[in-house]
Amino acid sequence: MTIAENVIHFNNLLQGGKIKLVAISKTKTTDEILEAYHAGQRDFGENKVQELTQKSELLPKDIQWHMVGHLQGNKVKYIAPFIHLIHSADSLHLLREINKQGGKAGRIISCLLQVYIAEEETKFGFDEKELFNLLNSGTVQQLENIEIKGLMGMATFTPDEKKIRSEFRKLKNIWDLCREQFQSEKISMDYLSMGMSGDYSIALEEGSNMIRIGTAIFGERNYHE
Ligand SMILES: *Cc1c(COP(=O)(O)O)cnc(C)c1O
Repeated sequence: MTIAENVIHFNNLLQGGKIKLVAISKTKTTDEILEAYHAGQRDFGENKVQELTQKSELLPKDIQWHMVGHLQGNKVKYIAPFIHLIHSADSLHLLREINKQGGKAGRIISCLLQVYIAEEETKFGFDEKELFNLLNSGTVQQLENIEIKGLMGMATFTPDEKKIRSEFRKLKNIWDLCREQFQSEKISMDYLSMGMSGDYSIALEEGSNMIRIGTAIFGERNYHE
């Protein structure tokens, strides 16, 4: 299938827009992104700041850009003026920096708190306890140039579907608790960003409302091109 066909396929799958599709275009060319764009896709995600800013300059201005990769504090300033949603807010330190750069750019920056649900040690994010401590502390609520729009998580990279499902279920439970306890002016908790090309079906069954799809739209990535 072509990129355009894949975009249309996913949008048919996603209940008329109730579930948000973020097309992850890392390593892909602006031509490939434009093919998805012309098929109607407007939300695109990248995992590197430099690639994200370069592409945003070259591509149509009505694209909504998502940052999904680990974000270093000293790079926030490059995306603060235009980023639509940061999925990977994974420390209070980073949240403070996003808040500061949001202030400088005169914007309120939407963020998801990344929650660590996988077994892999390399993954970033708050664990459940850290997350609740953070939200209970009221610190985030005081960051004027940030709005918390929900949670993001990645399951363990494994063929074990039961494991993936239990990790997604855990994140959904945490999201439900957060919605009950912390919804406020600064914390909407609208989005649960979980599911990638390999596990989005399970994620949707477990209650995701935002999936981040790269390979299943654009094809395999070649990092050596
Ligand atoms: C690359 C990436 C994706 C998309 O991965 P695919 O398996 O290609 O769909 C989703 N989320 C994050 C955080 C990523 O880095």
